[in-house]
Amino acid sequence: MLAEMKGINEECGVFGIWGHENAAELTYYGLHSMQHRGQEGAGVVVSDGEQLKAHKGLGLVNDVFKQADFSKLSGASAVGHVRYSTQGENTPENVQPLMFKSQTEGMALAHNGNIMNAETLSGELEGQGSILQTSSDTEVLAHLIKRSGMGINETSITDAINKITGAYAFVMLTEDKMYAALDPSGIRPLSIGRLGDAYVVASETCAFDQIGATFEREVLPGELVTINDEGIASIRFAIRGQRKMCAMEYVYLSRPDSDVNEVNVHASRKRMGKELAEASPADADMVIGVPDSSISAAIGYAEASGLPYEMGIIKNRYVGRTFIQPSQELREQGVKLKLAPVRGIVSGKRIVMIDDSIVRGTTSKRIVHMLKKAGAAEVHVRIASPSIQHPCCYGIDMSTRDELIAANHSVDEIGEIIGADSVAYLSEAGLTKAIVKDKTIHQGICMACMTGNYPVKENGEQEAVYRG
Ligand code: AMP
Repeated sequence: MLAEMKGINEECGVFGIWGHENAAELTYYGLHSMQHRGQEGAGVVVSDGEQLKAHKGLGLVNDVFKQADFSKLSGASAVGHVRYSTQGENTPENVQPLMFKSQTEGMALAHNGNIMNAETLSGELEGQGSILQTSSDTEVLAHLIKRSGMGINETSITDAINKITGAYAFVMLTEDKMYAALDPSGIRPLSIGRLGDAYVVASETCAFDQIGATFEREVLPGELVTINDEGIASIRFAIRGQRKMCAMEYVYLSRPDSDVNEVNVHASRKRMGKELAEASPADADMVIGVPDSSISAAIGYAEASGLPYEMGIIKNRYVGRTFIQPSQELREQGVKLKLAPVRGIVSGKRIVMIDDSIVRGTTSKRIVHMLKKAGAAEVHVRIASPSIQHPCCYGIDMSTRDELIAANHSVDEIGEIIGADSVAYLSEAGLTKAIVKDKTIHQGICMACMTGNYPVKENGEQEAVYRG
């Protein structure tokens, strides 16, 4: 089932805006606020009603757009993308939005997620004569839409989408319409906002706040939304699965000020910390969090345990995410470059160190070592998510099972490996409680990387069908 999940994993950010004279610039700002979702490439495609124009490149949003001439990107609608990929697939032709032009019309496509049957479908397409220009799974969807021979419309998009399985949030732009679609289980986030009369679509609501837009609603699982000058229309292209929003969006990926499926990320992380404190207390002097993603959970743990929250680790904000380093050796150096202990605070103290998750164990090991070297008397590691033992096939970079420390070691062994005085993880029930506030609205979450229960199979089968 997981045969095709390696390849390009993308935990990206998508953005779209319809009906605003500064569409390209607003997209640029929106992408900026979602920079944390991908630092390897960024792009904007704008439509002036007659043609599509693109500006894309490798690197951070700011680097890509510092030379951009926005006067050449005029138009009232635009889509954009920030990209995070793994394993050397970081080539200019893979930077999104992907653009496709025929004699009659053009299309720009931006995608967040992972199409699980992309390899099978691209093999079929190539067998039928299609020439794929990128190694991105996103291109498969464009070819499927084009091959219908019906042009780009709701019917051809629906037919194409129904051939793909996995987790996906798409934003598409043609000369005269914008489309947004979400997979039938709603694994990836995608929200709709308004900015005056304009419509906005984004992976994270922090992009709405950035441009002064207001949240309107979530794109629903299995929904295709069409936006043009007449307004917004919606069709359901698949039987809606029970919503299975990715738990890692809350644990690690999303920005604390974003609301993911109408649940604030910072607040959910605080609840994770609270649950963790109640289930796994520690005899200690203070609580510290690994910046930035663990700060919210550390505050929650401190509040619930009655221990003071302290700033025991400083992050150099000019060093990118650890995972960007391609090799284990470089990754380890990355952690050292990025984080430093506050010696005067941690020296001689018994510390509860909160991290949001352990993947390979690199970060925790380094930090425990660093804190002990700075004089910490004890370091009790508390992880604000259940142990990650299974790879993700829905677009989150979790690497292979061999590399996942919890897939190969018990909690006690992990404690020994990372040099902690004790280790405890948040339970699956604790995580669910912290995220799912209201079952009727928020329904379920995907915890496949923790439980091994994959809500969507490669053949498209869904774990549970929601008929609400
Ligand atoms: P590791 O050092 O491999 O155990 O990675 C764990 C650290 O990476 C945690 O501190 C998280 O903040 C962060 N992390 C968790 N999931 C991801 C991910 N999918 N991509 C990048 N970083 C992550």
